[in-house]
Amino acid sequence: MKKKILITGAAGFLGSHLCDRFIAEEFEVIGMDNLITGDLKNIEHLFQNKNFHFYHHDVTKFVHVPGKVDYILHFASPASPIDYLKIPIQTLKVGSLGTHNLLGLAKEKNARILIASTSEVYGDPLVHPQNEEYYGNVNTIGPRGVYDEAKRFQESITMAYHRFHGLETRIARIFNTYGPRMRLNDGRVIPAFLGQALRGEDLTVFGDGSQTRSFCYVDDQVEGLFKLLMSDYSLPVNIGNPHEISILDFAEEIIKLTGTQQKIVFKSLPKDDPMQRQPDITKAKDILGWEPKISRKKGLKTTYEYFKEFSKEELLKSEH
Ligand code: NAD
Ligand code: UDP
Repeated sequence: MKKKILITGAAGFLGSHLCDRFIAEEFEVIGMDNLITGDLKNIEHLFQNKNFHFYHHDVTKFVHVPGKVDYILHFASPASPIDYLKIPIQTLKVGSLGTHNLLGLAKEKNARILIASTSEVYGDPLVHPQNEEYYGNVNTIGPRGVYDEAKRFQESITMAYHRFHGLETRIARIFNTYGPRMRLNDGRVIPAFLGQALRGEDLTVFGDGSQTRSFCYVDDQVEGLFKLLMSDYSLPVNIGNPHEISILDFAEEIIKLTGTQQKIVFKSLPKDDPMQRQPDITKAKDILGWEPKISRKKGLKTTYEYFKEFSKEELLKSEH
């Protein structure tokens, strides 16, 4: 009998790639989403597949799935700063109430559950690179707190279900991941810069651009998540690409890649924007035998090709 997996956030960027991966692995896949930041376009190619089912549902409400469920991937949550600043309460609810519902479902079905945590649990980190033992530096009441604290609560309740109910749980601390199917107007730096280049606008660097990020291509991320789900390790694991770059250098890289004639303009740095971020992936290497393989050059080229297919109208609509 086929293994059955429930993927929440299925119409989003990561969720849709995960649906593809588990369909390719011959699973029966239930994709669940309320479409608050996702788009059915990301999964419409799966609608004809008899092993794929879509449930339009808000996971902060009681979650019911008929029959057996072997695995759950909980990826529903706004993920970009401008999204979670726009919908702060929903962000807190999907990380807390939503996670509670899915843990309850996992317990009921005796399923293994992997939750999508984030490098944001480290906040504006005082330890560099960030390893899983670091407790983080988060401003609970700042604008980003709604996301960071929801994810920290999510980790706590997941470990409580593991310890108290013996549930099989996995926690992925995902670092900035990019690739096709990101929303062009989601405000994250890669779609922002590529969209600006394609529309012929200047690239907006926030602050002086000395803050750093480390970008992981989606195929590498999905492989790491797959390996973590199939492992027997229940403590958090960082999944990301340690190749770090400053945002200013990154803007230059995008200018080179796209050949845009536009320049860089500086805007104010959003509150609590982390100054540096780089995953320590020693654990992922040791426990999962995983490390990213796709260079930023290759991953960005593929992502750029994807956005280049957008029509002029779509590009203009994506301005915010
Ligand atoms: P995304 O916005 O593209 O996808 C999130 C999906 O969740 C959307 O389709 C949205 O409609 C859905 N959703 C939100 N609230 C819901 C609810 N209450 N009920 C049902 N569906 C709901 O974001 P993404 O980049 O694909 O992120 C997916 C997950 O991975 C999130 O949990 C995010 O926190 C985590 N994550 C992503 C990154 C990254 O770099 N992409 C980094 C760290 C963590
Ligand atoms: N950023 C920027 N210009 C933009 C969008 C983002 O300089 O148009 C910066 C942002 O301030 C942050 C970095 O790029 O320092 C990554 O931002 P993103 O929203 O992609 O992710 P996160 O801050 O959650 O890592």
